[in-house]
Amino acid sequence: MKNISLLGSTGSIGRNVLRVARSRPSEFRITALAAGRYSDVLEKQIKEFRPSLVAIADLSSSPPLARAKALGVEIFFGDEGLKVLASSRGIDIVFNAVVGAVGVYPLAAAIESGKTVALANKESVVIAGDYIRKKIKTSEGLCVGPKPKVIPVDSEHSAIFQCLEGRRIQDVSKIIITASGGSLYGRKPSKVSVEDVLRHPTWKMGKKITVDSATLMNKGLEVIEAHHLFGLSYDKISTVIHPQSIVHSLVEFVDGSLLAQLSLTDMRYAIQYALTYPVRLSSGLPRLSLESIGGLDFKKPDFRDFPCFGLAVSAGLAGGIMPAVMNAANEIAVGAYLSEKISFVSIPRIVEKTMAAFSNVRNPSLDDILEADKAARERTYKCIR
Ligand code: MG
Repeated sequence: MKNISLLGSTGSIGRNVLRVARSRPSEFRITALAAGRYSDVLEKQIKEFRPSLVAIADLSSSPPLARAKALGVEIFFGDEGLKVLASSRGIDIVFNAVVGAVGVYPLAAAIESGKTVALANKESVVIAGDYIRKKIKTSEGLCVGPKPKVIPVDSEHSAIFQCLEGRRIQDVSKIIITASGGSLYGRKPSKVSVEDVLRHPTWKMGKKITVDSATLMNKGLEVIEAHHLFGLSYDKISTVIHPQSIVHSLVEFVDGSLLAQLSLTDMRYAIQYALTYPVRLSSGLPRLSLESIGGLDFKKPDFRDFPCFGLAVSAGLAGGIMPAVMNAANEIAVGAYLSEKISFVSIPRIVEKTMAAFSNVRNPSLDDILEADKAARERTYKCIR
């Protein structure tokens, strides 16, 4: 029986984690749940899974808390609450599925207290990957070695992780991250509606990541994520457009052989594997039929109309506080786009403008990173107003 602390339980990934946990009640116990606010969805989850700990980010949702207390759970708030749920005794896996930079608090707390993290929150490792690797004194990637600190849930990184099992990282010549291209690939991104952007061709996901997929920011963040998870230099990380999203990523070894991982587009494959690693358990998930797919296409990415990819990679290469600045600017710009305050093509412009306003800090502390995150948010808000 594995005790799971699920952070971000009401989001798209969180609800899928609960579907997996529900399908195997003798393997997984949900010991803790964290969500942005107290809602009917969260209350239903508490009643069904009976966690002992609950954390809520937003204090303004406190009136119904009396109801949660009546259910016998201990309640925590804010970033501190996430830290408690990431480091409490008796928890085997911290499933980090919160959205955005706030995921850094539980990631750092879990790793410092020696817990394994199933990581669906890429922003945390993007902004603080260097800091965390330094903190635990490793030059290796966070997923590398016989006892990985992090088990990736992002489908591309889960694929690479699975292809690397039992291999030596020094035998890798490069990894190839696949990209569907998002909802706008091959189209001119000017004058697109929020509705168009949210219509992802292959994956059903939360709004923030669906916009990031359309701007290709998501792929840029994934390149930085791969750098920290697998400890590979940026010249060994490449991307290829693969519109069907069946091959989730590939690893090329020094002898020229390639390994790939394939499945249908359902996050529960990667979620279940992160929870059962290193073993595999049967699942009721649908099987991939190669005959019905027929063919798989791959092509060289064309990033000209999608500058977010290059902005993200340049922030990754710069290191220091730049990934935090880039990520914060993107989170604010995407929020403004979703509330129809700015246009789609303004997202990269705003990210670039914010990045240009900051000078880098080498070897930042976690406080430096969080300060840069906050300052970049304020700066980006000013840009939008
Ligand atoms: Mg992904």
